Amino acid sequence: MTQASPVHPGRLFVFSGPSGTGKGTVLAALQARHPELWFSVSATTRAPRPAEVEGRDYLFVSRERFEELIETDGLLEWARVFGNFYGTPRAPINEHITAGIDCLLDIDSQGALQVRSRMPEAILVFLEPPSLDVLRERLIQRGTEDPVEIERRLAAAAGEIACESVYNHILVNVTVEETVARIESLLAAHRLEE
Ligand code: 5GP
Repeated sequence: MTQASPVHPGRLFVFSGPSGTGKGTVLAALQARHPELWFSVSATTRAPRPAEVEGRDYLFVSRERFEELIETDGLLEWARVFGNFYGTPRAPINEHITAGIDCLLDIDSQGALQVRSRMPEAILVFLEPPSLDVLRERLIQRGTEDPVEIERRLAAAAGEIACESVYNHILVNVTVEETVARIESLLAAHRLEE
C-alpha cells in the first residue's frame, strides 16, 4: 500500500442559480474563508472577460478542444449556456474526492441535473434572487451584458427557478454575508452526517 486512504471521501457540493443572483460573489467570499475547500475550474468556449484569468476563473478552450473533452469522456457534465459551451473536468473532481477534500461546483441547472444522475450522493444547492425584479437590477448594475442579453438571462432564470425541486437546498441570496453564513452551516451539517 502506498498511501493511507482518508476515512471519508470528499463531498461534492453543486451550486446553481440564475445568472446575476450573486452566486459568483457568494462563492468567491466562501473560497476566501475556506481554503480547505476545492473549487472546480470549468472548461468553456466563452471568451475571457477583462478581469478573468486562465486556469483560475476558467480553462478557456476552443470549440475543437471542448468536443475532444466530450469524446474522451473528460467531462463529468457539460451544457450549452447562453450560446457557449461549459463543462466540468472529471479527473480533478475524482482526485479531490478520493483525497477526502470537499469539492464545489458552480454550474448551471442543466449541468446540476447531469451530476444528480451520475453522482446521486452530490449535494445540490440552488441560489435564488429575492425576485426577478431584483435580478434584473443586479444584471444592469453588473454592466457585463447588453439589454438583449439581460432579457435572455431573465427568461432563462424563470426556467431555472422552475426546476428547483431537484435541489437539496434552496437559499435566497439577500445579502452575501448572510448567504455565506448559511452555506457554512449547511457544509457543517453535511460533515456531521458522516
Ligand atoms: P458565465 O459565462 O457568466 O461565467 O457563466 C454562465 C453560466 O454558466 C453560469 O450559470 C455558470 O454557473 C454556468 N457554468 C459555468 N461553468 C459551468 C460548467 O462547467 N458546466 C455547466 N453546466 N455550467 C457552467
